[in-house]
Amino acid sequence: MKQRVTVLGSTGSIGTSTLDVVARHPDRYEVFALSASTQVELMLAQVVQFKPRYVVMASEPHGRILAEKIGINGLESSVLWSKDALEIIASHESVDVVMAAIVGAAGLAPCLAAARAGKRLLLANKEALVVGGDVFLRAVKKGGATLLPIDSEHSAVFQSLPSDPASWAHCIEKIILTASGGPFRTRDVGTLRDVTPEEACAHPNWVMGQKISVDSATMMNKALEVIEARYLFGVSPEQLEVVIHPQSIIHSMVQFHDNSVVAQLGTPDMRGPIAYGLSWPERIASGAAALDFSAIPAMTFEALDVNGHPERFPGLQLAWAALRGPSGTCAVLNAANEVAVAAFLGRRIRFDQIHRVNLETLATVTCSQPDCLEDLIALDDVARMAANAVVGRIAR
Ligand code: NAD
Ligand code: MG
Repeated sequence: MKQRVTVLGSTGSIGTSTLDVVARHPDRYEVFALSASTQVELMLAQVVQFKPRYVVMASEPHGRILAEKIGINGLESSVLWSKDALEIIASHESVDVVMAAIVGAAGLAPCLAAARAGKRLLLANKEALVVGGDVFLRAVKKGGATLLPIDSEHSAVFQSLPSDPASWAHCIEKIILTASGGPFRTRDVGTLRDVTPEEACAHPNWVMGQKISVDSATMMNKALEVIEARYLFGVSPEQLEVVIHPQSIIHSMVQFHDNSVVAQLGTPDMRGPIAYGLSWPERIASGAAALDFSAIPAMTFEALDVNGHPERFPGLQLAWAALRGPSGTCAVLNAANEVAVAAFLGRRIRFDQIHRVNLETLATVTCSQPDCLEDLIALDDVARMAANAVVGRIAR
């Protein structure tokens, strides 16, 4: 029987890579539903190729334009745009696999719906787990869902661990997440205030959506990944370490109690972790190129205060600070960062002010202990208002 797949955020970087892998295995997978925010033309092309039963667009105007084009082309996909449409396609009884590739906390509700419905949930959308935390994990457990990491670091850790999660607590000494250091690893720290959105989005090793590209440049992406790892693998914050590895060949590693280290290696191509998530515990062709070890001149590692400048990536430490706070702290940090990144991309604040928005928002908002999706949404709203107020104060 073919696995029926819903791709949330199918027009993005992870979404298109997912469809690339799916298209390589028509005997194993078929697309049940696709979703996007506003990209009507790309979505139409995906509908033509994959013929999903449902398509969700984030707004009615985009949904109506797409529905008209689908009709003109004689296709049969139904277009939805209601508030609960993403949850419907994430939890539909006909769906086996849900790829969560929406960016930001906007992906939380459909992730929870897929978790509650017991789906195989492929998590690229790290913000959903950072915001959802224990509420998310409880939904996975209660719904009998299978949560598999797609973030390359977490897929690497998952591939390095023994297959029985019950054994992890007894064997993990620490988890070492690798970080490329992004585009500004060696840039003069004094010029970080002048960084433009174009410079921040030009990642040396990976081609990704704008938000995660900016997060990689500030290293807030790694901060979110530290929090993500804490929840995915059940380790304490002290067991999480980050090391800079500019070549992005080792995707992450696990150090065991005997100090033996197991790492996962590959070319920087997200189709690798996506194919593993889709096929686990089996392996299928991903389209990613093989490593050519004879062509790798060196694999290097650096401590985080690259060139003696700990102020280069001040946001990274916020991960451990947030994990030490009440459980809602990670949700507040995520909301602040989403607002700050949008303000930077909109040229309202400088690159080096992203951290200031995050810090000041954390200092202003009282972090509760959210217990359900409604609590999380309320906390996210409050944090966004506070972050927008900080942006308003410092905006150019
Ligand atoms: P992207 O910006 O390229 O794509 C985002 C997708 O989500 C698009 O299809 C967009 O239409 C849709 N979308 C955005 N906002 C939405 C909203 N409010 N409602 C509904 N749909 C919405 O982003 P990406 O780079 O593909 O990243 C997606 C997620 O995967 C992020 O959480 C990111 O951190 C994570 N991730 C990405 C990569 C990568 O290599 N790109 C690697 C690891 C993890
Ligand atoms: Mg990653």
